Amino acid sequence: MRALIKYATGKGNVGIQDIPEPVPAPDEMLIKIKYCGICGTDLHIWADEFPSLPPVVMGHEYCGIVEQVGDAVAGSWSVGDRVVGELHTGACGRCELCRAGKPHICNHKLALGSKYNGAFAEYLSIPACLAHRLPDEISWEVAGVTEPFAITAHCLVERGTVQTGQTILISGTATMGLMATIWASRLGARDIIVSGTSQDVAKRFPLARSLGATRVVNVMEEELSEIVLDVTDGRGVDTWIECSGAVEAIESGLNAVKKTGKVVLIGLVGPPAIPVAWNTILYKELDVFGCFSSPPSSWNLALEAEAEEASKLRRLVSEILPLDEWEIGFDRMRRGEAVKILIDLERKT
Ligand SMILES: [Zn+2]
Ligand SMILES: [Zn+2]
Repeated sequence: MRALIKYATGKGNVGIQDIPEPVPAPDEMLIKIKYCGICGTDLHIWADEFPSLPPVVMGHEYCGIVEQVGDAVAGSWSVGDRVVGELHTGACGRCELCRAGKPHICNHKLALGSKYNGAFAEYLSIPACLAHRLPDEISWEVAGVTEPFAITAHCLVERGTVQTGQTILISGTATMGLMATIWASRLGARDIIVSGTSQDVAKRFPLARSLGATRVVNVMEEELSEIVLDVTDGRGVDTWIECSGAVEAIESGLNAVKKTGKVVLIGLVGPPAIPVAWNTILYKELDVFGCFSSPPSSWNLALEAEAEEASKLRRLVSEILPLDEWEIGFDRMRRGEAVKILIDLERKT
């Protein structure tokens, strides 16, 4: 089968290769992949800025159809089932974290698509415990963005506990920022301020508005802190959701949060350490929530919400390309021209 492979460490070293189809173990199932989304993480793996174990098939945002079921899990799954699945391959299932429902941060995890063969391939074999059945009414296009939708469910529902009537600041307008906007709106936030740069004015700001943003702020032209004070009668926002990973946004965000407010961190920063106005966190008695990846509980939340949010989620899929055009997709994502690009593993060219 054809697969997109990171074949050696170093910048680039990514290409399509022919490899044998995986054979599912007794507790696994073989999935014929329909779509796999290109994620910011894939760009970092390409650039060797995110740890990977080459040679490895890339891709972790997948949906598809069960093609073969291992003997040990045959009772629970059938050939033809439509599924999406988690990326927490390698999680041990026995440690304190796994038993607490947090396999996404298990020390033994070898994440799909970077350290374990992923889903930019015609077939994927995964432990059946990672799969979730896809409701009939969910289209493949919407199913293809379940993984990032689950991450934002974890961040806003489980960690940040965003509630009705709150004022939320979301910094960043890529997939995480826009999906956070969908959740904030769904959870009943009263004011949703989305901040970005001049690059966002033409496409992403209008998109953010259509997803529920009540105010968009171009930080290159407007003073974010003034707008926040204006919207909140001088208090600051209840919760700040940081999705940009940009040092400037992180500096200004802390000033925008009210005393006793919450800070929810999603965006990874490039350098290993950045300067932070640490004392501000203490003076304001802020609650800081670091977030990473998507525990199984957040997949349930995402799948429960997907049908109602389908039209918004579909708007985030900018383009669908065949595997042969992966480089075009990576380039467009890198230049910020697309929000989410799905690779169609069934389409030949
Ligand atoms: Zn991803
Ligand atoms: Zn574990």
